[in-house]
Amino acid sequence: MSAGGSDERADAVVVGAGLTGLVTAVRLARAAGSGRRVLLLEAGGEPGGRARTTEHHGYRLGLGPRALYRTTRDELRALGVRVPGGEPDLTGSLALREGRLHPGYAAPGPLLRTALLAPRERIAVARLLGLSRGRPWLAGTDAAQWLADRLPTERAREAAFAVLRISAYVGRPEMIDAEALAAHFAGVRRGVRYADGGWRTIVDALLARAESLGVRPRTGSRVTAVEGGARPRVTMADGRGIRARTVVLAGLPQRAANRLLDHPEPAAPPGRSLHTACLDVALSRLPDPHRTLVFGVDEPLYLSVVSQSARLAPQGGAVLHLARYDDGAGLGATEVRKRLDELLDLCQPGWRDVLVHERFLPRITTMTAVPEARSGGLAGRPGPRVPGHPGVFVAGDWVGPRGLLADACVLSAARAAEAAAGRL
Ligand SMILES: Cc1cc2nc3c(=O)[nH]c(=O)nc-3n(C[C@H](O)[C@H](O)[C@H](O)COP(=O)(O)OP(=O)(O)OC[C@H]3O[C@@H](n4cnc5c(N)ncnc54)[C@H](O)[C@@H]3O)c2cc1C
Repeated sequence: MSAGGSDERADAVVVGAGLTGLVTAVRLARAAGSGRRVLLLEAGGEPGGRARTTEHHGYRLGLGPRALYRTTRDELRALGVRVPGGEPDLTGSLALREGRLHPGYAAPGPLLRTALLAPRERIAVARLLGLSRGRPWLAGTDAAQWLADRLPTERAREAAFAVLRISAYVGRPEMIDAEALAAHFAGVRRGVRYADGGWRTIVDALLARAESLGVRPRTGSRVTAVEGGARPRVTMADGRGIRARTVVLAGLPQRAANRLLDHPEPAAPPGRSLHTACLDVALSRLPDPHRTLVFGVDEPLYLSVVSQSARLAPQGGAVLHLARYDDGAGLGATEVRKRLDELLDLCQPGWRDVLVHERFLPRITTMTAVPEARSGGLAGRPGPRVPGHPGVFVAGDWVGPRGLLADACVLSAARAAEAAAGRL
C-alpha cells in the first residue's frame, strides 16, 4: 500500500544493476539530460549481476565463459564504452566425439576438410552455417526441424548443431526457435571477443559512465514491490518507498517482474529458462598450449582457454572455462562435474598440479526464457511496455524482437530507456 508524504522522490528508478540495468541507466540519464534524479537499485552487494567477474591472486574469472558478440559491442561503443580484448582462434579448435579429439571445424576452411563428415555432408553443413542469416520464414519452426529439412544425415545435423550450440548455449535443437538461432548465429559470425579483464571491464566502464551522467547507484537495495499507474511507487525491503515518474525493471526474469507488480502468472508460461554447468579454472601454467578450444559434438561440452586471447591471468598463467550445456538429460551435479573433469584431464593433463583456483557452478541461468517455436520465437517476446502500468517498463534477455543473451539485454535496454525517457 502507498505510504505517502515520507516517500523519497526520483525522476526515474532502474531496478537491477546487471548489464541490462547499467545500459538502461546510462541511456536513460543521457536522454533525460542533466539535473534529473536517476536511481539504480541493486539487491546484491555489487553491480554486474551475471556479468560479474571475480579475482583470485590476479586471475580474473567470469561466472562461466563469456564471449562478447558484435551487437553488444556496437551498442556499448555507442555509449562510449570500448572493450579491449582478442578473438578466439577458431581455426585451431578441436572437436570432441566419442571421447576423442579431432581437428575442429568451427571455421569454414577446416569444415570443408573435416574427417568427421563425408564430402556431401561437409558441403551441406557449410551451406547451412554460412547462409544462416535471419530468415523470418523459419519463425515458428524449431531448430531440430530446420536442421532436418536442410541436412542429409543425422551425423551432419549433429555436426552443424555442435557449432550453433556454442554461440547460443542451447543444449538441444528442439529447445529453440530456428529463426532466433539462425539470426543469432549470423550476428555471432560478425565477430566474437574475449574481454581483457573479463566482463568486469564492461561493468566498471558502464558504471563509471552512469555515474558521470549523474546516476546514483545503490547496492544492497532490494525492491519488494512496484505499484504501477501514472506515477509509480517502489517499495524497498526495509519498507521505505520511492515515488518516481518512471520505473524500469531491468534484467529481472519475467516471473520476478510479474511478482513485483503483483501480476497474476500469465496463462502461457514464458519460454523455459536455460541453465549451464560451468567449471572456471585458474592455472599457474598451461600443460598443453594446443588444446585450448574444444567443442563437443555428441555431448554438449565446451572448453576454452580464454586467457590465450584476452588478458586475464598473470604472466605464464591461464584461465579456462568449461561448460556443459543444458540438454534436458537431467544429469546430477556430481556426474556433470565428473564429465568436465574428464574433459580437462584429456585436454590439459596434470592440471591439478598447477591449480591456483577452481569454481564449479552446477546450474547458472544463461537465458531466463528461450524463444521457443511454440511461442512464435523472437516475435513472440513482449515489448518494454507493461499493460496497465503506463509508467513501468521492462528490459532483459526475454524482452523485444531481437537478439539472444547479452545482445537481447542491451537492445531491450535501449528501447526501455527511450520509452521511459518519454515520461520525464
Ligand atoms: C554462464 C553464462 C555464460 C554466458 N555467456 C554469454 C556469452 O558468451 N555471450 C553473451 O552475449 N551472453 C552470455 N551470457 C548471458 C549474459 O551474461 C546475460 O544475458 C546478462 O549478463 C544478463 O544481464 P541482466 O542484467 O539482464 O540480468 P542479471 O545479470 O541477472 O542482472 C539482474 C540484476 O537485478 C538484480 N535484482 C533482481 N531482483 C532485484 C530486486 N527485486 N531489487 C533490486 N535488484 C534486483 C540482481 O541482483 C541482478 O544483479 C552468459 C550467461 C551465463 C550465466
